[in-house]
Amino acid sequence: MSRFWSPLVHTLTPYVPGEQPRLANLVKLNTNESPYGPSPRALEAMRDAADDSLRLYPDPQAHDLRTALGLRVGLPADCVFVGNGSDEVLAHAFQAFFAHDNQPLLFADVTYSFYPVYCGLYNLPYRVVPLDGGMRVVVQDYAGPCSGVVLANPNAPTGIALGLDEIRRLLALQPDRVVLVDEAYVDFGAESAARLVAEYPNLLVVQTLSKSRALAGLRVGFAFGQPDLIEALTRVKDSFNSYPLDRLALVGATAAVEDEAWLEQSVRRVMHSRAELTQGLESQGFEVLPSAANFVYMRHPDRDAADLAARLRERAIIVRHLKGERTAEWLRVTVGTDAQCQTLLAVLRDILHRNT
Ligand code: PMP
Repeated sequence: MSRFWSPLVHTLTPYVPGEQPRLANLVKLNTNESPYGPSPRALEAMRDAADDSLRLYPDPQAHDLRTALGLRVGLPADCVFVGNGSDEVLAHAFQAFFAHDNQPLLFADVTYSFYPVYCGLYNLPYRVVPLDGGMRVVVQDYAGPCSGVVLANPNAPTGIALGLDEIRRLLALQPDRVVLVDEAYVDFGAESAARLVAEYPNLLVVQTLSKSRALAGLRVGFAFGQPDLIEALTRVKDSFNSYPLDRLALVGATAAVEDEAWLEQSVRRVMHSRAELTQGLESQGFEVLPSAANFVYMRHPDRDAADLAARLRERAIIVRHLKGERTAEWLRVTVGTDAQCQTLLAVLRDILHRNT
């Protein structure tokens, strides 16, 4: 509290990111980063670009990166927007699209917890729509007056994905509102709605290089949509920061996007580890939701999730426990390397066998 603060600042409840401890030798399974390094081509491109040209501003249009991103999904650069992490892209989208006569923005009750934070920042009313008993999104529940819909697909923290038929149904339910599909985890086994962009003027698809491309530290996110949606985002961006991506991020991201072979093998490894981890957890009595992401969401029928997280932490393994009525029983665990997954399973077995 300070007399210098604007009234708005007093009202904010900021997002709390998963911790980034400075301890070595941690098995860090709490923020859905990739356990593998990024494409060597991306690293090389950034090393090559670290020279005197850094005295110059980067391309405010991010032309090469937008072209490379568009090529992957068959869209021209004017259907692509880039930002400093998908969090920034989401923030601009909330401001650009979701203020309509005080109508509420709709999103799930269990989903990415940054959505209500942006609503607070931009003063947007919202209504949470409950997932069903199986923690699934029920598309029909997103009908009726609203300012728009935000859907994480696969959802986080559940990992459950909807098929494109369901996304089409959602787009048809709200033809006069933007439906934002947040595909941060889509590469790990869900179907991207990017190929529906040409068909649906109300669709904005948001993705990131932080997860499947293993570049969380670079902060690059992007969106696909028809040109008038992209223009709205660009108007917001150019009223905020003309150069959200620096020169190194632009070349590194472009090289990463062009390295399809690296993406394929990296995603395949994570999906293989996810299947083994899920099986191992289930054999210890955990309920594990079917995940199309690089994490699993799980609970144990007779163990307290917060207590499990604390005990794992004592043994140098960190996972994410989200407080809240519908999430308190669950733990979200990032899929690590096979060795990390094996360590997790061994430590859990030990914890479960102690009856204290
Ligand atoms: N969307 C979802 C659903 C996420 O889980 C995350 C990661 N916390 C993001 C968006 C933001 O990712 P980034 O800003 O690293 O692109």
